[in-house]
Amino acid sequence: MHSITKDKEVERIETLAHTKVADCYQCGKCSAGCPMAEKMDVLPSTLIRFVQYGNVEKAASFSAVWQCVSCLTCSTRCPKSVNIAGVIDVLKQISLEKNVVHPKMKQVVAFQKSFLNTIYRNGRTNELEMVAEYKIRGLLGNPNPFFAFFFALKDAELGLPMLRRGKLHFKLGAPVKNKALVRRIFAKCQEPVSR
Ligand code: SF4
Ligand code: SF4
Repeated sequence: MHSITKDKEVERIETLAHTKVADCYQCGKCSAGCPMAEKMDVLPSTLIRFVQYGNVEKAASFSAVWQCVSCLTCSTRCPKSVNIAGVIDVLKQISLEKNVVHPKMKQVVAFQKSFLNTIYRNGRTNELEMVAEYKIRGLLGNPNPFFAFFFALKDAELGLPMLRRGKLHFKLGAPVKNKALVRRIFAKCQEPVSR
């Protein structure tokens, strides 16, 4: 039997993802089309099953949650119109709130936070700033000095080829003029949802 708290969490997921997880009948079509399924510790359909049973915290702790690249293939393939990608997006949020991010996914989280922060500050991506923040987050998050040193240098060999192909820009682009609008979009996304 589920606790009231867990049921409320399922309700919250359904509200935020605009979907109904109970509609899933475990056909597996979402998992069969997922380009990241091979890398995941559990399949997208299994994540939905965990949520159906109210095991939200457990679902949020799988590495699959952060391995999902939000391509939406699963949601478009579902014969029951379950928004699997939306559910996984909410699970990402829950994994941060409950501090249950899979240990192997901490760098992915650091990268996504760095990306969003640069958008928040500038209204657009600023590659150099984003990479710098990502590296600093990695360094601070790793007490082992050998690992921290390795982490700081591990992408260095990619820098030169990327520069040559024009994929990395040292010149910082101007931030968007209406930063207040960008902040409002972020604030709107962070508003609590009531049903
Ligand atoms: S495709 Fe839809 S119905 Fe089938 S397992 Fe996935 S979520 Fe469930
Ligand atoms: S949105 Fe995520 S779970 Fe769905 S198919 Fe794409 S990678 Fe897989």
